[in-house]
Amino acid sequence: MALITIDKEACKGCSMCVKACPKNVIAISSESNKNGYFYAEAVRLDACIGCAFCALMCPDVCITVEK
Ligand code: SF4
Ligand code: SF4
Repeated sequence: MALITIDKEACKGCSMCVKACPKNVIAISSESNKNGYFYAEAVRLDACIGCAFCALMCPDVCITVEK
């Protein structure tokens, strides 16, 4: 199983990572961060395959992937 970490305070809620993930691991939270953005969070981490598409797509480099 791979593991992603999302820096929720750096996230701008653009959804690029949500669209990039082939496994629907990431969703946008119903709660906002301190900057007022609805941030991305990993909701199905067990499905993550570590492809890093999410991290590559994030314009703000909020996501790190470990294998
Ligand atoms: S590493 Fe791949 S499978 Fe895992 S959350 Fe990112 S895009 Fe989805
Ligand atoms: S791509 Fe980056 S900034 Fe956009 S929602 Fe995902 S983690 Fe947040």
